[in-house]
Amino acid sequence: MSPSSSAEDSSSPAVITCKAAVAWGAGEPLVMEEVELSPPHPHEIRIKVFSSSLCRSDISAWESQLLQAIFPRIFGHEASGIVESIGEGVTEFREGDHVLTVFTGECRTCRQCTSGKSNVCQVLGLERRGVMHSDQKTRFSIKGKPVFHYCAVSSFSEYTVVHSGCAVKVSPNAPLEKICLLSCGVAAGLGAAWNVAAVSEGSTVVIFGLGTVGLSVAQGARLKGASRIIGVDTNPDKCEKASDNNLCVPVFDVILLNFLSQVIKRITDGGADYSFECIGDTGMITTALQSCCDVIHPSTFKPRTSPFPHIVILHGILNLTSKFICLVCFIWHQGWGLTVTLGVPKVKPEMSAHYGLLLTGRTLKGTIFGGWKPKSDLPSLVDMYMNKASTSILPSITTLLHVYFLVILE
Ligand SMILES: [Zn+2]
Ligand SMILES: [Zn+2]
Repeated sequence: MSPSSSAEDSSSPAVITCKAAVAWGAGEPLVMEEVELSPPHPHEIRIKVFSSSLCRSDISAWESQLLQAIFPRIFGHEASGIVESIGEGVTEFREGDHVLTVFTGECRTCRQCTSGKSNVCQVLGLERRGVMHSDQKTRFSIKGKPVFHYCAVSSFSEYTVVHSGCAVKVSPNAPLEKICLLSCGVAAGLGAAWNVAAVSEGSTVVIFGLGTVGLSVAQGARLKGASRIIGVDTNPDKCEKASDNNLCVPVFDVILLNFLSQVIKRITDGGADYSFECIGDTGMITTALQSCCDVIHPSTFKPRTSPFPHIVILHGILNLTSKFICLVCFIWHQGWGLTVTLGVPKVKPEMSAHYGLLLTGRTLKGTIFGGWKPKSDLPSLVDMYMNKASTSILPSITTLLHVYFLVILE
């Protein structure tokens, strides 16, 4: 890809014209347009995009009728590229540097960045208004009319401008078309398994949603020694694809959603140690919580060892364990398990769950970008990928080796 015209004097970059896929309205087909792209402003860099992935978040924002209409707009936030020019005050990058873009930046000076407790920068965090962080304006235009950004990255374009805090310098030896995936989905999944859940060896993991993020969680869990990884997805094609390679065991063809947690408890002998919601469905968060371990599950309770055997038996008979938890049960009705939610809700942002699920020992965590601080942590992930001695951190079909599929046909 190349611009129609480019800056001749690299010390003072000019406006360039390049091609970009522009969304003119919610759900409308993207149109390849000639767009003008301004030079990088202070502390910004202009990048020649090498690779850009399509992330589910792009699609959700593109098709959403609920969110504020920000159009025309250039989507794309998961990309790799090469620095074409730098703005005033940029010392970290030089022209020709290989970079990954990131949708949530790292300024390294704000309270969040210095807290050691968060990876969401106060200054360069998720940008939702379609503009650049620094001046709330756009860098793209068509015949003078502003074209809005997405996540202050907008990588569905031959060239783009990002804040220097929203780019990470990587080794020039790393294949840009591969490490592009570390810019969002793969890193988010690996980080959820490693940083947020800290999946332990021999554990049982359930993953709801088998897109790039879900498969990356599976890969992360596998690399940490999880003994059983169960994938759940509504798309039977994913199971069929895996079955062709003899890597998938479709356990059920049709499962009513209401019984999903019970089915998972049954096949995991009482529930999972970790569950991950990678769909962006807040209802599924509840199911993920309910799928965690519950020692009073009918398959595991032992009435004779309980101080209140008649109550245990009653619960077993009525099979109330996943719906009701009584005060008496709090005494010994203990479960465990950690649910991590990564998905961005497409419709209903509110979630609900019986508080007893938490009181009896389960934990719910949310994460953005898998807890990674992009500038501090991404280079090590790239190195990990480049280290041929280690198992690849990028998910592939072989990731599915230990994944059992539950196909839900609603
Ligand atoms: Zn993404
Ligand atoms: Zn910051």
